[in-house]
Amino acid sequence: MCERIRVLFLDRDGTINKDLGTYVASREDFVLIERADEAIASARAAGFRIVIITNQAGIARGIVTPGQVEDVNLYLNELLAQKETFFDRCYYCPSHPKYPHPEYDRFIDCRKPSPRMVEKAIEDFRAEGLEVDLGGSFFIGDKMIDVECGQRAGLRPILVRTGHNEEAICLEHGVLPEHVADDLYQAVAGYILPSASR
Ligand SMILES: [Mg+2]
Repeated sequence: MCERIRVLFLDRDGTINKDLGTYVASREDFVLIERADEAIASARAAGFRIVIITNQAGIARGIVTPGQVEDVNLYLNELLAQKETFFDRCYYCPSHPKYPHPEYDRFIDCRKPSPRMVEKAIEDFRAEGLEVDLGGSFFIGDKMIDVECGQRAGLRPILVRTGHNEEAICLEHGVLPEHVADDLYQAVAGYILPSASR
């Protein structure tokens, strides 16, 4: 018998940390968006698992290394520890269709808006006896690809106005999130938690 869990799937750059217009290669490049840590802490306190789903094509482009991406993620968990919280795991896609790479091309199908990384996370939870409740789980990001990825994975997509803020682009393409929030904190505290308790 599987335990059912709800998951907050989060884009990273532009959603949790400020999008500085370049790939995040070091801890110095990683600056939390205001109250993003509090948002993660309150979602976890409400029972959500936290999974990060991020495109990191800087790897295929030779701008960042997998080790740097992982060190930045470690740093994020160090920052979250200050709020007595953490994220469970991070899935990142190193590939980019315009930058072929012998080592990373096999991951190209994972790149958002593909739902493949979310599906992998769900499979990994299942292997641990945990069944993700899709209808009670969300995908939050700042780009249209995040909304589309959430939709394709059967999750409830939320767009945030931080980072690239692609609200207008989503409208233009008819890729409509369930909700648009000013930032991650507002998405969690102002929308998800009130609607989850209803
Ligand atoms: Mg982003």
